[in-house]
Amino acid sequence: MRRPNWDSMSLQPFNKDFYNPPPAILNRSPYEVEAYRNKHEITISGVDVPHPIEKFDEANFPDYVMQSISNMGYKDPTPIQAQGWPIAMSGKNLVGIAQTGSGKTLAYILPAIVHINNQQPVRRGDGPIALVLAPTRELAQQIQQVASDFGNAAYVRNTCIFGGAPKREQARDLERGVEIVIATPGRLIDFLEKGTTNLQRCTYLVLDEADRMLDMGFEPQIRKIIEQIRPDRQTLMWSATWPKEVKKLAEDYLGDYMQINIGSMQLSANHNILQIIDVCQEHEKENKLNTLLQEIGESQDPGSKTIIFVETKRKVENITRNIRRYGWPAVCMHGDKTQQERDDVLNQFKQGRATILVATDVAARGLEALAESYCVLFDYCPKFMGMLLHWICT
Ligand code: ADP
Ligand code: MG
Repeated sequence: MRRPNWDSMSLQPFNKDFYNPPPAILNRSPYEVEAYRNKHEITISGVDVPHPIEKFDEANFPDYVMQSISNMGYKDPTPIQAQGWPIAMSGKNLVGIAQTGSGKTLAYILPAIVHINNQQPVRRGDGPIALVLAPTRELAQQIQQVASDFGNAAYVRNTCIFGGAPKREQARDLERGVEIVIATPGRLIDFLEKGTTNLQRCTYLVLDEADRMLDMGFEPQIRKIIEQIRPDRQTLMWSATWPKEVKKLAEDYLGDYMQINIGSMQLSANHNILQIIDVCQEHEKENKLNTLLQEIGESQDPGSKTIIFVETKRKVENITRNIRRYGWPAVCMHGDKTQQERDDVLNQFKQGRATILVATDVAARGLEALAESYCVLFDYCPKFMGMLLHWICT
């Protein structure tokens, strides 16, 4: 794929600043704004960072967006949304660091919808206006759900592009033209190289779970994709952690950006999670796992679900077999499963027909949200340590 020479091209102008703060927000005193940020552990950096949108009805969102919010039953914006929206809607580049489950998806999807509705319509053959890159298929699909929940009423179409599934249907959506593409990097590059779609109209770029994408080795692909997008685009990057690789990516592509951190900037344990570390011999693990499952089974919360992360595919299969022998309703997931099998497994787990899921880390990201009560890291290996850090340190 050739890297366009942006300097020599005359680019169609576009608008990315749509934020018009209402007086209620503008008139808030620095003291009040400070109090809100302190209360919600919002740390900001950047010049002239706008005041947070503390309530939904302060945001001047279009009616159809307000309707979707009330359909979802959300009471107030989460801190990352409150501080993220005014920045995103002003067309500024943004880095948002907040732990999993803090509402980052909506923090970039609502501004995306506003952005899209202020651009020329997408015609057949046009590429998307908004591109969201995510590390795994499961995450991409979760994002797609939010894009549909909030975009459908606004006639903002979306499609989800990921590897391991047939290309035909994905290609058809791309060719027809969609406003939002949510993609894992590899498959998107396939389509870009074939010319199935292009990023010439892309003016709103989101890198979601940037830390995780880099952990998974997607950096070259991400860079390749970004270089296909006009440099005056708006870029929003989201991450649960802020390692130096993520910072470097931001510095390379976001220019002058604003940054939001939710929670402590230092590594500090998440006190909502009780962590138990058991140092033992390999051969003791199986017994210990059975005892643990027994304890969980006998505990007060009957609907609870457990995810067990294991290092290798073969071990996933073995452990699942063992657990089942003891009568536990366990299913498993790893990189060798077909899409159909993965879907089946996820459905069984989501619906509670199986309460135990055994998985490798390849299949892991995004799944931890499904573990309603218990998460077991069966193996102490470096690739799990990154994941562990996500949970306990953000
Ligand atoms: P993150 O990307 O930060 O991990 P998500 O965007 O996946 O978080 O959101 C986590 C959960 O919070 C989702 O179930 C979502 O529906 C819910 N959520 C998002 N925004 C709000 C809100 N303003 N109020 C209540 N719940 C919300
Ligand atoms: Mg997310």
